[in-house]
Amino acid sequence: MDMDGFVEEVVRISGRNPYLCYQCGMCSAVCPVAQYMDILPHQIIRLVQMGDPAVLESDAIWVCISCMACVDRCPRDVGPGIIIDALRQFKLRRGAEKYDYFQVPELGEAPSLALVAASRKLTG
Ligand code: SF4
Ligand code: SF4
Repeated sequence: MDMDGFVEEVVRISGRNPYLCYQCGMCSAVCPVAQYMDILPHQIIRLVQMGDPAVLESDAIWVCISCMACVDRCPRDVGPGIIIDALRQFKLRRGAEKYDYFQVPELGEAPSLALVAASRKLTG
């Protein structure tokens, strides 16, 4: 998958500015599914700031249930949940394999809302 320019496209899709993030960690603190993520929301935003395509391979961008609690609480109006949604869109628009969310380690223990949201992401 061509990852070139992924930050610019994620910024364009999301309409948000990841560079405003100062890594306070509030998004990770309020995220209801953070415990199921391989990297936390504030770490996702940091990887985007650094232009590190490793963020696109994280399970966490699929575990996010788009509840937008982080968007409400971010003191810098970064909109981390919106950026995470854009990361998913970036991959899906490049024909990413449909994600088998049942393969996410420990997701079987996650709230049912997480599974419902994951199903919607596969059909949206
Ligand atoms: S809450 Fe906002 S400013 Fe704080 S780490 Fe998350 S994205 Fe960055
Ligand atoms: S939108 Fe995603 S990253 Fe943000 S709090 Fe909700 S589940 Fe966590």
